[in-house]
Amino acid sequence: MSACPNTAAATVTAPDFAAAVGAPLPVLGRDVTVPLVTGGEVTYAALDYAASAPALQRVWDDVAAYAPYYGSVHRGAGYLSQLSTDLFENSRATIAAFLDCRDDDQVVFTRSTTDSLNLLASALPADCQVFVFETEHHASLLPWSDARVTYLNAPRTPEQAVATLERALADRDPYGPALVCVTGASNVTGELWPVRELAAAAHAHGARIVLDAAQLAPHHPVSVRDLDVDWVAFSGHKLYAPFGSGVLAGRADWLKDAEPYLAGGGASRTVARRADGGVEVEWHTTAARHEAGSPNVIGGYAIAAACKALTEAGFDSLVAREQHLVATVRAGLAEVPEVTVLSLFGDDAPRVGVISFVVEGWNSSHFAAALSAEYGIGVRDGLFCAHPLVRTLLGSDPRDPGECGAPDAAPGEKSLNAIRVSFGAGT
Ligand code: PLP
Repeated sequence: MSACPNTAAATVTAPDFAAAVGAPLPVLGRDVTVPLVTGGEVTYAALDYAASAPALQRVWDDVAAYAPYYGSVHRGAGYLSQLSTDLFENSRATIAAFLDCRDDDQVVFTRSTTDSLNLLASALPADCQVFVFETEHHASLLPWSDARVTYLNAPRTPEQAVATLERALADRDPYGPALVCVTGASNVTGELWPVRELAAAAHAHGARIVLDAAQLAPHHPVSVRDLDVDWVAFSGHKLYAPFGSGVLAGRADWLKDAEPYLAGGGASRTVARRADGGVEVEWHTTAARHEAGSPNVIGGYAIAAACKALTEAGFDSLVAREQHLVATVRAGLAEVPEVTVLSLFGDDAPRVGVISFVVEGWNSSHFAAALSAEYGIGVRDGLFCAHPLVRTLLGSDPRDPGECGAPDAAPGEKSLNAIRVSFGAGT
């Protein structure tokens, strides 16, 4: 990138880097080569794990080994149907163990984190109040209806987050149901949120809490019991499984009392015509209540395979390796005077392998496009589906709907979007 400021200072050679951080878990696509505008080609460097991580080779192999034998689940009498039903249901048990769920928790298969949180939103008891920080990803920010939701201002420290929530909960109607929704790790800054403390605050005020673990679960062990959260949501495609499957795990009561998320076969236990001409339905009270229609069997099986692979690899070594990567990338960026790394809780805050930054004098979209075209490095640019947060971090007003997007940022001018690099177990 000819005009890129001071890239030499940030250069780490591939062999040095590999030696320093050890071997990653094998993922698909590590050998893909891409053409460069400058001529020739280079091995593609996927640094966009926060959007979608490449699937682990091990997950792909597990799915390929099972695929020739799959059959319909829950309803078929044949051998392969029975086998598939067992594997699908065992996948729930594997995921429950991965999340260290309570014995009576449910694992509901969904399409994604977004789908999981929309499912929970559809299952809230009447008059439930919802508390959510304005800094959340849109998947956690938007599913709750405006009438019942309180948006909390961006905190600048983890302690401030807890204090802000405590204050808001203290003011609420103490007798009605309430839910707090919070991310475990930010998809913009990678910063870890004080989930255990927020859960304690929620419970002290009679509220429940759902953890958006879309960015946390791929990087850290998540224990529902230890964090004492009521639900956890995550996506398969960020946890090294393929697209199209997600999980909502946690307490059964609100879910079993709610209207089914989708109405149809599989969710209904019995259906009969009524004397008045209508139909009378008795819905399941298990996870099946919210999984009408033929389920994504391969998707659920793949998530469980990813959970097993991560558990066997051991989070200790994955976290140590990733923290080395974070430190290396941040040290490199710190040597470039034009670069500002975005942070809500400060430079020393613990974080996962997600780093967003702006480069003075560069439009972030052009910068990201140049990284791809000239170096074969895939990153993301924009506001990362967390517009209020990114605006706050860039010094804009999160309440100004006009100021958004990516006009050229001339030297000295404020950027209106950012560049994000993110990595994980396959980087
Ligand atoms: N929550 C966070 C923190 C995320 O980063 C994302 C996706 O980037 C989501 C939720 C939504 O995930 P999905 O698009 O898989 O529903």
